[in-house]
Amino acid sequence: MRRWLCIVLVLVLIGSLGGCRLFRRPVPPAPEPPDGEQKVEIPEEIFQGENTEPELRVYIAEQGQTVTMMFEEYIQGVVAAEMDTDWPVEALAAQAIKARTFTLQKIAEQGTLPNRDAHASSDIQEFQAYNAERINDNVREAVEKTRGLVSVYQGEFVRAWFSAYCGGSTATPEVGLNFQGDPPPYLQPVDCPCYETIDEDEREWTESFSRSQIRNAVRQITGDDPGNFDTVTIASEENGRAHMLEIGGVEVSAPELRLTLDSTEMRSTWYTDINVAGDNVTFSGRGYGHGVGLCQWGARGFAEDNRNAEEIVQLYFPNTSVQQLWE
Ligand SMILES: [Zn+2]
Repeated sequence: MRRWLCIVLVLVLIGSLGGCRLFRRPVPPAPEPPDGEQKVEIPEEIFQGENTEPELRVYIAEQGQTVTMMFEEYIQGVVAAEMDTDWPVEALAAQAIKARTFTLQKIAEQGTLPNRDAHASSDIQEFQAYNAERINDNVREAVEKTRGLVSVYQGEFVRAWFSAYCGGSTATPEVGLNFQGDPPPYLQPVDCPCYETIDEDEREWTESFSRSQIRNAVRQITGDDPGNFDTVTIASEENGRAHMLEIGGVEVSAPELRLTLDSTEMRSTWYTDINVAGDNVTFSGRGYGHGVGLCQWGARGFAEDNRNAEEIVQLYFPNTSVQQLWE
């Protein structure tokens, strides 16, 4: 992971030194919604006319100020922050459709951010990642070629979750995120080529935690004390990914345990082995992230297999359509 980051940083440096811009490319024709599919609307909060790219107010946490920018300019900064900017353009373009959809879905739901006069924020605790310094020509091309495109289900923006590496099959929100609301019907597990695409030494992970770390985490999440437990078993799962674990007779949600322990150490909840020995509990697994929605390594695999961005998004969000809100 660190190696990619280094590559990204070097490329960003080269890109910013070059300072060149791509010429504006012709926009592909807008896909028509399938028969019977309702058209989605630009949220009233930012509406500036039919087929018109809105402006957004974005809080830049690093500068402590809110700036107004065009919607597509904001999406460039999101894509640059969320995906390796050296990746295939169609993978970046799929990420752009996802980012645009996420942004509009949130604005449709909440208008401005709670306690802030802005629609978006670069603080990932408040909204989604944004880093304008990492924008390069690849990112500009990916955003331009998907200009105005969003994912839609029954006239509404889809809940555009994504994760880095699902492990080979994506998750439903209930299992991957312990999501408690009505599960969106378009988020079903799909087969994903990420396991074959990612570097071999990143496919699987192993991490140990002390018994007391696990015991404290379980107590914090459930309020129940698993005591001096000697077994950790998977109580329920989906395609190999754990939903609930049973630890010393206490049931705990695997995604919540992961977040409480450390989501960079426990990379996923797709465990291939759990071993309690001595003072340690050792988890082995595959995947990195919650596994719901678009899988970035899988998107890269599909892009390398000549799938375009719209196809990629529809593979991860089946039975949804891609619509164009502005040209
Ligand atoms: Zn995947």
